[in-house]
Amino acid sequence: MTKRPIAIMWFRNDLRLGDNPALRAATKWADQNDGVVLPVFILDPVIDSQLGGATRWWLEKSLEALGHSIAEAGAQSAATNASLHLLSGDAGDILENITDAHDVKAVFWNRLYDRPSTSRDTDIKAKLQDRGLECESFKANLLFEPWEVKTGGGTDFKVYSPFWRACQKLPAPRQPFAAPKSITLADIKIAGEVSLAALDLAPKPFDWATGFAERFTPGEQGAKDQLFDFIDERLVDYADLRDRPDHRVTSELSPHLRFGEISPYQVWHSAGHFADAHPGKGKTASKFMAELGWREFAHHILFHASDLRSIPLQGQFSHFPWSNDSTALERWQKGQTGFPIVDAGMRELWHTGYMHNRVRMIVGSVLVKHLLVHWRDGLAWFDDTLVDACPANNAFSWQWIGGCGADAAPYFRIFNPVLQGEKFDPAGEYVRQWVPELRDMPEQYIHKPWEASPLILKAAGVTLGQNYPEPVTGVKEGRERALRAYQDMKQSV
Ligand code: FAD
Repeated sequence: MTKRPIAIMWFRNDLRLGDNPALRAATKWADQNDGVVLPVFILDPVIDSQLGGATRWWLEKSLEALGHSIAEAGAQSAATNASLHLLSGDAGDILENITDAHDVKAVFWNRLYDRPSTSRDTDIKAKLQDRGLECESFKANLLFEPWEVKTGGGTDFKVYSPFWRACQKLPAPRQPFAAPKSITLADIKIAGEVSLAALDLAPKPFDWATGFAERFTPGEQGAKDQLFDFIDERLVDYADLRDRPDHRVTSELSPHLRFGEISPYQVWHSAGHFADAHPGKGKTASKFMAELGWREFAHHILFHASDLRSIPLQGQFSHFPWSNDSTALERWQKGQTGFPIVDAGMRELWHTGYMHNRVRMIVGSVLVKHLLVHWRDGLAWFDDTLVDACPANNAFSWQWIGGCGADAAPYFRIFNPVLQGEKFDPAGEYVRQWVPELRDMPEQYIHKPWEASPLILKAAGVTLGQNYPEPVTGVKEGRERALRAYQDMKQSV
């Protein structure tokens, strides 16, 4: 048992050393009290319930990277092998057990915003404070706390634009700060601590995530590289090309933000520096910063909603006549709908754990409108397959797609998957990449192969219904059925 008093740094969705307020507080506390820092990550039921296959893969890699960074920072201050301590079980019980067994005087963490996490954290804070421990939580993963942003009437927001205007009237987001150069770590063994492998996060029964690793490098360094690459190479074109899946200009920072490997402050100020350094390019930086605003808005809604995953924010949608069509759902999941842009998106998702935002909107719309499948089924599939699946953005976005969310696209505004494909992937490059069966289709038919003549299909090597499916529904028929279902719902409430 170490003789020096201990401050616990409880990592959750903040898997970074830089710009980490709770970690800074823990190291400061240790410096001021001749103490040491005990970094822990606990795979508790709340965190576990929010993970799907893809995010489990990401988390394992991210914890591995964090462990290395902590060990390096620890070795700067003492000859020790200490690193991140991994545990699994009820977080409250585990923290109490550690404080029983060791001389813990303080516990620090960064805040989360979903109900299960906030109620767990409130409970734990009260119990630890009852034991006389110093216990503090910090704002780290949002630019604006959900309770800081209020309407003139003092209530929370339901519409994005006024929300974002209100945010901009608040004090500007603080500057990010550097990682501690060294951390004086507690060199102790904790009862019940487990290896990374024992957390059982790796893909099973075989490594199906090789395509994820080709696209992403989880961890703080991977996040920084991704940010700098984006700012240096792609932000300049962001406003003009962000809707084009055939041009990869967006930041692809979403999984890094999901796990807090980079903070929104680091991202925000990097975009701000770009705008300062490139007069005349402010518009593209502002557009990007406004997307970070959507992330803030999704968390604002999540914090104030009782259950964003299950309950439609617009109550009338509880009566919507969903189809329960499991065949259609399965064709959508497998990228076999016969709508090329949809199939490309679903296959990109399966292969890389990621899908472009515009394509998420198109595949989502086709699922809940043309196929009348419940938005909760789409949410569940994305939760399992996206590396950035997060309790706020995913649930918020599916409610938005379903027409029942905050500031949502009205249900009766129905994307045409052919026109969307032609507009945002005009030469069909994105489709050709992910749906190789259609690689040789002429541009004119790449988004609607069923309109091509038998001769053209033959020349492209496509036999509809054999090596590429017929569309799961007609574009027009699907749209009309969705509008009828919407009318039925309105009449039933
Ligand atoms: P960029 O365009 O570079 O944007 C920068 C950051 O802003 C993103 O990393 C993200 O954190 C945030 N952001 C951008 N667009 C949105 C948005 N519309 N709503 C909220 N935040 C946004 N995003 C997730 O992070 N996790 C999800 O689980 C998720 N599920 C989605 C489900 C559906 C049906 C839809 C339509 C969108 C979903 N999004 C989700 C939002 C958006 O598609 C992704 O954030 C974006 O595609 C990530 O790519 P990027 O990092 O290159 O984004």
